[in-house]
Amino acid sequence: MIMEEQIYKVLIIGSGPAGFTAAIYACRANLNPVLYEGMQPGGQLTETTRIENFPGYPEGVDGNDLMEDLRKQAIRLGADIRFGAVTKVDFSKRPFLITVDDEKVVMAHSVIIATGATARYLGLESETRFRGQGVSACATCDGFFYRGKTVAVVGGGDTACEEATYLATLAKKVYMVVRRDVFRASETMRKRVESTPNIEVLWNHNTKEVLGDSSGVTGVRLLNNKTGNVYDLPVDGFFLAIGHHPNSDVFKEYITTNPEGYIVTEGKTSKTNVEGVFAAGDVQDPSYRQAVTAAGSGCKAGLDAERFLACYLPTL
Ligand code: NDP
Repeated sequence: MIMEEQIYKVLIIGSGPAGFTAAIYACRANLNPVLYEGMQPGGQLTETTRIENFPGYPEGVDGNDLMEDLRKQAIRLGADIRFGAVTKVDFSKRPFLITVDDEKVVMAHSVIIATGATARYLGLESETRFRGQGVSACATCDGFFYRGKTVAVVGGGDTACEEATYLATLAKKVYMVVRRDVFRASETMRKRVESTPNIEVLWNHNTKEVLGDSSGVTGVRLLNNKTGNVYDLPVDGFFLAIGHHPNSDVFKEYITTNPEGYIVTEGKTSKTNVEGVFAAGDVQDPSYRQAVTAAGSGCKAGLDAERFLACYLPTL
């Protein structure tokens, strides 16, 4: 195992809007941050197409372009951006020890966790095959392509209801595939679905297979788990809305998470239960999960790290 000698003031883990914004603020505070990009440089936005809801882009912006701009901004201000995924941490004492790619240990006085969350998929081979060709886990990103078409949304939670009602404004018909005979979603969201005429809920249904050809998704094979009936439903798009998995596993030995694995932060701050470790973006946000809210929380983490270092290590 290689051990770097230098102790960094701030080490940022993750390269989505939260990580890069934290890096921008840390640079501006002269903290010379090091940022490890993780398994998916640029984060979830690199999987999307056009982003219409990030403020400051009147014509919208391509997800990859936005992330590349954020990256360039952090580099211009002095951030040390590195390839590599954090595979282990030791937060038991300062300086903290962070293992990268199981081969190198880096030391830091403070750490900002911005590792994001990953959309859950059903685990079907056909679902993987058609990912990006009709299979999506983000209606707000990809719904635009289904104007006037027929789509299916899997899930019965708030996200599924929200995505179905959003898709219903574009698509001709939206089927919701719900595995039980009730929604998990809140009353408000349920009512919104019920009052949308072009949404049809398929209760007690499971997805057996996503069907398609070289043009992409053409349908979905469903099982009615009450009757045992299996049938094919023609659809043009298949949207997953069965929850997200926060990327917090590697920190759980030290960092408190909620039952779903989201890192718990203190009040309106980015502070975790370990002094000097902060969390920003989707890894600590089960509710909003937007690029702009992630960027906002990255700003808070950058400022919190600066204040922490000023108080506890004033000589730095
Ligand atoms: P949830 O965990 O709340 O819901 C997941 C849904 O997917 C459930 O209906 C679940 O079914 C279903 N599901 C899970 N696994 C499978 C599977 N393998 N096959 C089929 N169906 C499956 O996740 P959400 O993303 O909807 O919400 C996460 C959090 O974010 C919640 O706290 C929610 O309230 C919040 N949120 C709030 C919003 C708002 O207020 N506007 C908008 C979006 C999210 P089952 O019920 O049977 O377990």
